Amino acid sequence: MKTHARAIVIGGGIAECSLLYHLTKLGWKDVVLLEKCVLTAGSTWHSAGLCTMFSGSLRLMKLLRYSVDLYRRLEGEVGQHMGFKPVGSLRLATSQDYEDWFQHVGAIAQSVGIPFELVDRKEAARLSPLTCEDGILSAAVMPADGYVDPSGVTQALAKGAKQGGAEIYENARVREISLLPSGEWRVVSDQRSGHDYGRRRGECGGAVGARGRKACGGRTADCADTAPVRCLGDWTDGQARS
Ligand SMILES: Cc1cc2nc3c(=O)[nH]c(=O)nc-3n(C[C@H](O)[C@H](O)[C@H](O)COP(=O)(O)OP(=O)(O)OC[C@H]3O[C@@H](n4cnc5c(N)ncnc54)[C@H](O)[C@@H]3O)c2cc1C
Repeated sequence: MKTHARAIVIGGGIAECSLLYHLTKLGWKDVVLLEKCVLTAGSTWHSAGLCTMFSGSLRLMKLLRYSVDLYRRLEGEVGQHMGFKPVGSLRLATSQDYEDWFQHVGAIAQSVGIPFELVDRKEAARLSPLTCEDGILSAAVMPADGYVDPSGVTQALAKGAKQGGAEIYENARVREISLLPSGEWRVVSDQRSGHDYGRRRGECGGAVGARGRKACGGRTADCADTAPVRCLGDWTDGQARS
């Protein structure tokens, strides 16, 4: 097992595998992910996998667009099936407040170039024949929305990260994180091999990511879970900082 890395990411869900993948895209080859069980063993496995770009926040909508664009190209990039289906989405307005909200979201979508349409109830029922028209004023249609297999996309991100130089260890529960006088982080994990549990230590110069604080019951310094996110910069504008 590797004992020194520029960054160690803790947990093997969608958030952590995405972080690992994007670190390698930033040129961080010397990175490691530790998962206590197997990849997607956490709540990622249970998620419905809906990929919508609907949001009332400009920044979040750009981030969601980045995600959907990534899901479109990742399968071809890494050669891992992830089942992205751009089937579109439909939201029904049953009050004037909803219609106002949809118009607000539609204006944001238009400003960032995401397809968005407000349709009447007849068109909503035509698009989704199970829709009951009663009480519906209009509907918001986002044809580029879709769904993806959450487990597949996590595996694809992990595969992409590995192709970029990252190492992933499963059955490696992190027990402790501590900041050394040198400024490096010491991460102590149980690396399981068969039924044996060996106590291993890894050190990283960068930062501890994602699940870090939660995984270790708060036995970390305060900045541990924010440091790697800062270094990613703003991916939504394609201006990531190294
Ligand atoms: C395609 C997709 C669509 C989604 N859509 C929605 C949505 O519409 N609405 C919504 O609310 N959410 C949505 N989600 C989010 C989803 O419901 C979960 O919130 C999300 O997947 C959690 O990811 P995570 O990586 O943060 O956590 P997890 O998947 O739980 O991963 C954490 C991992 O950390 C590991 N771990 C824990 N402790 C340790 C330790 N000490 N050492 C090592 N490893 C440890 C766990 O075993 C686990 O594998 C979506 C997710 C996906 C993938």
